[in-house]
Amino acid sequence: MLDADFFHRWLAAAAAAVDREADRLTELDSPIGDADHGSNLRRGFTAVVATPEKEAPDTPGAVLTLAGRQLISTVGGASGPLYGTLLRRTGKALGEAPEVSEAEFAEALRAGVDAVAALGGAALGDKTMLDSLVPGVDALPTSYAAAREAARRGALATIPLQARKGRASYLGERSVGHQDPGATSSALLFEALAEAAG
Ligand code: ADP
Ligand code: MG
Ligand code: MG
Repeated sequence: MLDADFFHRWLAAAAAAVDREADRLTELDSPIGDADHGSNLRRGFTAVVATPEKEAPDTPGAVLTLAGRQLISTVGGASGPLYGTLLRRTGKALGEAPEVSEAEFAEALRAGVDAVAALGGAALGDKTMLDSLVPGVDALPTSYAAAREAARRGALATIPLQARKGRASYLGERSVGHQDPGATSSALLFEALAEAAG
């Protein structure tokens, strides 16, 4: 079973990964975006992990819902509302239970990914974070390691794609040949999950 502490560990590992990879995420966002993805997410995850211990929620659902709200309020740019929605919707799907099973979590994260697709109007193959989130959540019932690998491969698979959503889509064919920054940060979320579980 997964308790609130597991989800705190996930978010802390995600914040550390974003901090470590921020320069690379911003670099990826420079040829096909506006070179702010790393700084956007760093600001957001710094706010998430800054919640004082005594104010930290103590159910899995509440941990993710609060983190989602914090991302929405601190991250400027497309990725804030999208990642915020991912965590809020996942948190909402987990309800108020003090512990959730891995199967319940996989199902809730699926609802979160579906909400990202609905909000952004993007689908698999549009060269967005969904190209990593969808294969990651598909593989989650197998294992955290399988999800991490699937998400990582999904991010790499955005390189030959032409962007159909977000800022990169303004470039048309010139978006081909570059890895999507959001798919790359999504892969970090699965990496952090495997770390929190390990
Ligand atoms: P902005 O583009 O506003 O500067 P960021 O640079 O923080 O925001 O995030 C860009 C990332 O957001 C993209 O690499 C892409 O993965 C993701 N993204 C943008 N638009 C969408 C969308 N409509 N649906 C899903 N993901 C999107
Ligand atoms: Mg950007
Ligand atoms: Mg921007």
